[in-house]
Amino acid sequence: MIYDTLVIGRGPAGISCAVYTVRANLSTVVIGKFESSLLKAEKIENYYGFENPISGKELLMAGENQARRLGAEIIEDEVVAIEKEAHFKVTCVKGTYEARTVLLSTGSPVIKAPVKRLEEFEGKGVSYCTTCDGFFYRSKKVGVLGYTDYAVHEALELLPFTKDVTLYTNGMPLNLSDNSKEGLSQLKLNDKKVKSLQGGEVIEGLLFEDGSTELLNGLFVAYGSASSTSFALKMGIETDGKSIVTNNKMETNIPGLYAAGDCTGVFKQVSVGVGQGAIASRQIIELVRKMRKEEN
Ligand SMILES: Cc1cc2nc3c(=O)[nH]c(=O)nc-3n(C[C@H](O)[C@H](O)[C@H](O)COP(=O)(O)OP(=O)(O)OC[C@H]3O[C@@H](n4cnc5c(N)ncnc54)[C@H](O)[C@@H]3O)c2cc1C
Repeated sequence: MIYDTLVIGRGPAGISCAVYTVRANLSTVVIGKFESSLLKAEKIENYYGFENPISGKELLMAGENQARRLGAEIIEDEVVAIEKEAHFKVTCVKGTYEARTVLLSTGSPVIKAPVKRLEEFEGKGVSYCTTCDGFFYRSKKVGVLGYTDYAVHEALELLPFTKDVTLYTNGMPLNLSDNSKEGLSQLKLNDKKVKSLQGGEVIEGLLFEDGSTELLNGLFVAYGSASSTSFALKMGIETDGKSIVTNNKMETNIPGLYAAGDCTGVFKQVSVGVGQGAIASRQIIELVRKMRKEEN
């Protein structure tokens, strides 16, 4: 099935967009983990229409229930890759989906891995994009810094280029689905805490907290979940370094791909995310209707 629109993220921005698209008769799927920053908000009392404070969790659940009641499909999963061919192909930990349009509403970008000298070697052996840079490491020794499904996905993406791929968890416990656990058997695993990167002009290796070292030609960073900026790097979506750049219609530089909410770097508030989700939905509805006409 090809969905009319696929929304990545089930926070206020994504759910708001889905409410509009599903009511405009667009087949709509929302994919996300239950990890909205709204869950951290104990009390919300500045969102329109609530006389009394409401907890972030209650507001989030109410939004999801509203979207489900109207017919949106909400799937608990983590997106690890997006590609654009004739349609968008969105790869998740548990499945793959196709859609005519995509909304990125993944919230605030994740924090960088807490490892010394990482930034110093960006572009000098440290990369955030296996699709872009995997080719440079044919038959070399490479590592992926991470401990989640996303890290395993990135490490497996490197295997066509080199069989010498190590997953460096930086002392974090592995947090993997069964699929990723199977994939792990094709990788080397190092669970030591990294103290620092080592090298001169380019990265040469890793120094661990226990004083041991390991030589390395390249290190790919996939720490935590894939964020909007990870997708941006892979797909060539314009960013300002931290956030997705959109125009005032919430369009990115990739046709059919929109962004809304905290990932666009705006005033991080529920009302803003909800508003941007609504604006994006308007454009998505128009575009899908145009596509349908052209297909008939
Ligand atoms: C402590 C705290 C208090 C706050 N208080 C207020 C307040 O009083 N009033 C107010 O208006 N705002 C408040 N906010 C801000 C508000 O929570 C955010 O602005 C709002 O949640 C942003 O919505 P969003 O949809 O952009 O992102 P989020 O709500 O963060 O949702 C992001 C979604 O993307 C999903 N996601 C991310 N990566 C992936 C991936 N790779 N695959 C699948 N899904 C993914 C997440 O799981 C989540 O579902 C507060 C925030 C915090 C942290």
